[in-house]
Amino acid sequence: MENQTKKLSFDNTKIAFKHYSDSQLKKSYRIFKLLGYEILNDFGVTLTEFALSMNLPITPIVKPLVFSIFCGGETLEETKKTAKILSDRNVRCFLNYGVEAISSLDGIEHTTAVNIEALNFSKDNDGIIGIPCKPSSFGKFELLRLKQLGTKFNKEQQKQFDDMLQRMDLICQTASQNGAKVYWDSEETWVQEAINDIVDDLMEKYNRERPVVYNTFQMYIHFKYNFLQNSISRAQEKGYILGAKVVRGAYMEKERETAAKENRKDPIHKTKADTDEDYDKAIALCIKNIKKVSVCVATHNEESNIKATKQMESFNIDKNHKNVHFSQLYGMGDHITFNLADNAYNATKYLPFGPVKEVIPYLIRRADENSSVDGQMGRELSMLKKEIKRRKI
Ligand SMILES: Cc1cc2nc3c(=O)[nH]c(=O)nc-3n(C[C@H](O)[C@H](O)[C@H](O)COP(=O)(O)OP(=O)(O)OC[C@H]3O[C@@H](n4cnc5c(N)ncnc54)[C@H](O)[C@@H]3O)c2cc1C
Repeated sequence: MENQTKKLSFDNTKIAFKHYSDSQLKKSYRIFKLLGYEILNDFGVTLTEFALSMNLPITPIVKPLVFSIFCGGETLEETKKTAKILSDRNVRCFLNYGVEAISSLDGIEHTTAVNIEALNFSKDNDGIIGIPCKPSSFGKFELLRLKQLGTKFNKEQQKQFDDMLQRMDLICQTASQNGAKVYWDSEETWVQEAINDIVDDLMEKYNRERPVVYNTFQMYIHFKYNFLQNSISRAQEKGYILGAKVVRGAYMEKERETAAKENRKDPIHKTKADTDEDYDKAIALCIKNIKKVSVCVATHNEESNIKATKQMESFNIDKNHKNVHFSQLYGMGDHITFNLADNAYNATKYLPFGPVKEVIPYLIRRADENSSVDGQMGRELSMLKKEIKRRKI
C-alpha cells in the first residue's frame, strides 16, 4: 500500500495556499469577506444584472475580481494556464464550460462544439482529465421532462430528442478516444430519471474497458442509496464499470417547493443529518465495490472526505487508486483539495471557463452559496485568515 502512513489534515493552510502569492491571498480574503456581507452581495448581484441588461462593459470589473477567484479563464487557452498551476500541485481538473440554461439550437450546438474542443485539449494536457456536463445543455430541458412522464413524442420532438442523444453520445465517444472522462451532472428530479436511462446506456457502451462515463448520485434524495445499489448490480450484470460521482444535491429548496406545489411527497431527506448519513454510506458502498465502481467523492464537507479516506484505508486501497477521485469546485475548499493532493490522493477541481458575461449566472450562484458566515463562506474565510496570519502579511 502506497504512502498510507502520512496523516491527513485539512488545517494545513501552508499547503492549501502554497500557490498563492501574498497579494493573491489578500485579494481572495477581501473578496470572500465582501461576499459575506449579504447586503453588499445582493447589491453587487443587482448591479451586475442591471449592467448586463444595459449592455454596459462589466468584464473589466468582474474579471479580475470574482471571476478570477471562481473561473479558470475566458478561453481554453487562458484556462490552460490555470490548469497548469493546479497540475504543478498534483491537482488535476475537469474543464467545466460554465455557460448554463442554453435553449436555442445555436447555443446547444455551440456548447457541444466547445465541450468537444475541451476534450481534445485534454489529450495534450496531463492536468486535464475530463469534463463535467449538464445533460440539459445538449437538448431542450422540456424534452427530458416529457420523456420522464412517458409522453409520446410527435415527429419533431422525436427528432430533437434523437439529436440530443447523438450529441451526448458524441461527447462520450470523444472522451473515450482521448482517454478522458465525462461526468454527467445531476439535475432536478422531474428530469433525472430520463437522464439516468440515457447515462446508463452510455455507460454500458463506453465503460467496458475503463470508466469513461459517470452518472451523478444526489444523496439528499431519500431513495438514491437504493438506486446506487441497483446501479452497481446493473453494471455487474451487463459487464461494465459503474462511474459514480456522489454529491449531496444542489436543488433542495426548488425540489421541496415544487413537491409541495404539486402535492406530492418531498423527495428530499427530512434532515441534513439523514443526507449526511446516506452520503457517507454511499461512498462506503462504492469503495467496498471498488473493482466494479469508479467513484468521485464530490463534496466540500471535510468529515465526508476524511471518512472516505478512512474507508479506503480499511479496505487496504491505495491512496491514488485509479477508481477513487476527490473533487471540489475551483475557488472553494482549497484546504481540502491541496491537502488531499499533498497526501497522494487523486485530488481534482471542477474548473469553469467561458466568456465573463455568460458565466455570470454561475458566479451569482457561487456568491449566493458563499454569503452565509455560518456556512461554506465562514470556513473559506477562516482558512484564508489563518494563512495570512501565518505569513505575517
Ligand atoms: C465537484 C462537485 C460537483 C457537483 N456536481 C453536482 C451535480 O452534478 N448536481 C448537483 O445537484 N449538485 C452538484 N454539486 C453540489 C452539491 O450537490 C452540493 O450542493 C454542494 O457540494 C454542497 O454540499 P457538500 O457536500 O459540499 O457540503 P455540506 O455543506 O455538508 O452539505 C450541504 C448540502 O446538504 C444538503 N442539505 C442541507 N440542508 C439539508 C436539510 N435540511 N435536509 C436535507 N439535506 C440538506 C443539501 O444537499 C446541501 O447542498 C457538486 C459539488 C461539487 C463539489
